[in-house]
Amino acid sequence: MIEHKQIYIDGQWVDASGDGITHLVNPANEEVFATVPMSTPDDVDKAIRAARKAFIPWSQTPSAERKAYIDAICAKLTERKDELASLISQEMGIPVHFALGIQVMGPISGLSIFGDLAATMDETREHDGGYITVKEPIGVCSFITPWNFPLFQVVAKVGPALAAGCTCILKPSEQTPLSTFIFAEVCAEVGLPAGVFNLVPGKGSVIGDVISSHPEVDLVSFTGSTEVGVDIAKSAAGTVKRVCQELGGKSPFIIAEDAPVAKAVKYVVKDSMFNSGQMCVQLSRILVHESQYEEAVEVAKTVAESLAVGDPNDKGTFLGPLSSMQARNSVVRFIEKGVAEGARLVTGGTELPEGVEKGAYVRPTIFADVNNDMSIAREEIFGPVLCFIPYKDEAEAIAIANDTDFGLSSGVWAENKDTQMRIARQLRAGQVKVNGPAFSFAAPFGGYKMSGNGREWGASGLTEYTEEKAILVGG
Ligand code: NAD
Repeated sequence: MIEHKQIYIDGQWVDASGDGITHLVNPANEEVFATVPMSTPDDVDKAIRAARKAFIPWSQTPSAERKAYIDAICAKLTERKDELASLISQEMGIPVHFALGIQVMGPISGLSIFGDLAATMDETREHDGGYITVKEPIGVCSFITPWNFPLFQVVAKVGPALAAGCTCILKPSEQTPLSTFIFAEVCAEVGLPAGVFNLVPGKGSVIGDVISSHPEVDLVSFTGSTEVGVDIAKSAAGTVKRVCQELGGKSPFIIAEDAPVAKAVKYVVKDSMFNSGQMCVQLSRILVHESQYEEAVEVAKTVAESLAVGDPNDKGTFLGPLSSMQARNSVVRFIEKGVAEGARLVTGGTELPEGVEKGAYVRPTIFADVNNDMSIAREEIFGPVLCFIPYKDEAEAIAIANDTDFGLSSGVWAENKDTQMRIARQLRAGQVKVNGPAFSFAAPFGGYKMSGNGREWGASGLTEYTEEKAILVGG
């Protein structure tokens, strides 16, 4: 049993002021394997005040020094990569072999990009008209992160904050805090100055409000559901701080008429079932020309049925369990709803996968004959459930793709380059993936519409944490 007893404030491991603890349950076997203390609003207040005290000195460190700290954090996290992958797998079910790449080494590479970008904070731009502009760190930042990519989401926020010269406090998801304890241990080990990074694990319903409304916080960045994101923005409004929201999605994938349909379907089914489908960027509405529709559905069935579901420690496993029994129940309710709404259940369903007797597992599920008005096409399911929707022509495909409250990701598969760009330019989403690229830790990432505002990762991610100052010089 892993037992964390303290939280990390002002460079010290200290007791939380209350006696709340959370028990972490491994969704593969439904057993408790770790406990973590829960911070109180008083602890959050202390952490924010520590971050405020640390801000000016940290913001004045040379950018090369901030880069050196970030590089040192990357090196120490890399030393602990296997431990991180194992903990994340136990917390939320992803197979360990996938966790090592996308949940650990990927984020570390993204973090190192922020180290390289720290020097851009020193740039001074002279403009015609007698003024110069400089970039400065925004100040104290507070972060609230979700459970589906525990370290990834942390690095996307803490990385640019450190590079810019901001200080921060972090509340990880109460379901997946373990990698953030390692992150805090590493910060202490590399000698990051006290108060620059503070860890306050806790329940969103208890400490979320003070994190987002505190007058000493200059920016709150939240990744999670749209519903909670809206509450956070409301609570932050009174203090006019910057609010960055990375929220839900219901992303479309258009298979153009000229596409090799089997190849495109194989890509999208595997890509969208990854992490058991628990991805804000999941391409969950797959639009296929009516002439290729039945072929596409048949290929999707074959691919979904070929994906191994089971033990996250087994190298052959593609889908582990969902993150919790609660998550499984929610996805099962959507599958029932899809059937009740008249969609055709091609494969999958509500039963546990064959050979599995317990755990939060869900069968890879494909629905055909889905109408874009059905709730399975409109609401984020957050599981291994995909909807196939037929279209008559390109204009209709684009109209259906954009007929959503969300706008986080999207995809297209087309052979012709003009078709690729014509469709990509018309999709109302922060990213468009053309012909199955890998995730980029340098490209801007963020949402249109109810998927949020602002951008994370790379140079655009750093900009979120800066203020632009104009210096006007008279005669
Ligand atoms: P969630 O909204 O339930 O929780 C996210 C975080 O908010 C957790 O740390 C939680 O403790 C906290 N929280 C809950 N209630 C709160 C409150 N009242 N005040 C303040 N904080 C509160 O989301 P989740 O279930 O952890 O994650 C899944 C959601 O995250 C999905 O909707 C997914 O699309 C979204 N997501 C978005 C992105 C993105 O980059 N756009 C990335 C990953 C996940």
